[in-house]
Amino acid sequence: MKELLSRIIVGKDPVVESRIAHTRILLTGQVAMVGMFISLFYIIRNLILQLNVSYHYHAILLSLMILVVVLNRKGHHLAAKILFLTTTNFLIFLFSSTASYYTGSFIYFIPIFLAAFVLFGYEERIKAIFFFLLTLFLFILAHLIDLHLVPQVTLSTRKMFESFIVNFFTASFLTMLLINFLIRENYYYTKELIQNEEQLLEKNTQLTKINQELDQFVYSTSHDLRSPLSTILGLLQVMELEKEKENAGYYIDLIRNRVHALDHVIGEILDYAWNQKTGIQQDAINLHALLTEILTNFLQDEKTQKLSIEIEVPPTLEIISDRRRLKIILLNLLSNAIRYHKYDQSKPFIRVSSTIHQNQLEICVEDNGPGIHPDHQEKIFEMFYRASDKTTGSGLGLYIVKETTEKIGGTIHLRSEYGKGSSFMVRLPILQ
Ligand code: ADP
Repeated sequence: MKELLSRIIVGKDPVVESRIAHTRILLTGQVAMVGMFISLFYIIRNLILQLNVSYHYHAILLSLMILVVVLNRKGHHLAAKILFLTTTNFLIFLFSSTASYYTGSFIYFIPIFLAAFVLFGYEERIKAIFFFLLTLFLFILAHLIDLHLVPQVTLSTRKMFESFIVNFFTASFLTMLLINFLIRENYYYTKELIQNEEQLLEKNTQLTKINQELDQFVYSTSHDLRSPLSTILGLLQVMELEKEKENAGYYIDLIRNRVHALDHVIGEILDYAWNQKTGIQQDAINLHALLTEILTNFLQDEKTQKLSIEIEVPPTLEIISDRRRLKIILLNLLSNAIRYHKYDQSKPFIRVSSTIHQNQLEICVEDNGPGIHPDHQEKIFEMFYRASDKTTGSGLGLYIVKETTEKIGGTIHLRSEYGKGSSFMVRLPILQ
C-alpha cells in the first residue's frame, strides 16, 4: 500500500537529492490527495443534496489538487507546494466566509499553516513564514471582518453538524499527518546522530589503539634494529683487536647470526606492512605441498632434524585461500614451534593437522615443547610481546599471525599446558 502510494506520488525512479526532500515530496502528494478526497466528498454530497452553491469551489479544489499531484510527480516540487498552499488557503478562506462557524471549516487553517512549515522546512522558512502570514490574514478576513465576498450558505443544523464532523476529522487527520512527519523525521535524525556518534567513538578508540601501537612499534623496531647493529659493531671492534687471525671465523659466524636476526625483524615488518595494505587473493593451494615447502628451509638446520615432524594433512587436499597470507601464518607458527622446542627430551615432535567443516579449514600446529605459562597466554598475540626473557625474537611473530588470520576472515586460538606443549588452532574460511 505504502509502495503503491509512493509510486503514484513520485513515480517509479525518482531522482531526489536527500531523504528529507523525498519525504517532503511524498507528503506534498499525500496532502494534495487528502484535498482531492475532501473535495470529492463535498461534490458528491452537494450533488445528492442539490446544494449547488459551493459545488464550484469544490470542483476547483479538486482540479487544482490533481494539478498539484501532477506537478509534484513531474518534478516541479516547488511549484506544487506553492500551488497547494495558495489553493488551500484561498479555498478555506472562501468556505469559512460562506459557511457558518458551526460547520467548522475554519479548523483547516490549523493544518494549512502547519503545512507551510513542514513542506518548506527550515531551509526555506521565509517562504513558510509568508504562507503562515497569508493564512493568518485570510483567517482574520474571514472571521473578524464582516466582509461578504461570496453569498452565505444556510444549512440545516443536521447538515451543519455533519459538515462539522467531516471537517473536524479530516483537519485532525491532516494535522496528525503533518505532526507525524515532524516526529518521524526527528526520530530518524536523532537515531542517525546517535549512530554517527557511536561510529565516531568507535573510530576514535581504533585510532587511539593504532596510535599507541605505532608509538610502541617505532620504539620497539628501532630497538630491535639497533641492537644487532650495535652487536655487529662491537664484534668488529673485538675482531680488530684480536691478534689471532684464525679466530676470525668465530666472529664472522656471530656477525652472520646478528645479520640474520636483523633480516628477520625487517622481514617481519615488511610482512606486517604488506598484510595491512594488500587486498585478499584467492589462490588454489595444496596445503601439504605448502607445508613441505616451508619445512624444507627449516630442516636444513641440524637441530631441527632431531624433531619428529608429522604432517597429518591429506596430500590431495586442495583449497582456495590467500597463499601468501597462509604461508606467513604457517611459517611463523612452525618457526616458533621449532625455535622454542625442548630438545633435551626423548621424543620431541611437531604435528600439523587439518580438518574441514562447512567451508572452514582448521589447521592445528601442535608441539610438545615448553608450553606457555598461563600468565602469558592472554597477551601472547600482542605486538612485541615475548613470553620469556630467553627468547631471541622480536615478539612480532604471533601479532602478525593474528592480524593476517583476521584479514582473511579467520580466527586463531592457543591451547597450552605449561611444561608440556602448545597447540595453535587457526580457523579459516575457504573454498574447495
Ligand atoms: P617472537 O618473535 O619472540 O618469537 P612471537 O610473537 O612469535 O614472538 O611469540 C611470542 C612469544 O610466545 C615468544 O617470545 C615465545 O616466548 C612464546 N611462544 C610462541 N610460540 C611458542 C611455542 N610454540 N612454544 C613456546 N613458546 C612459544
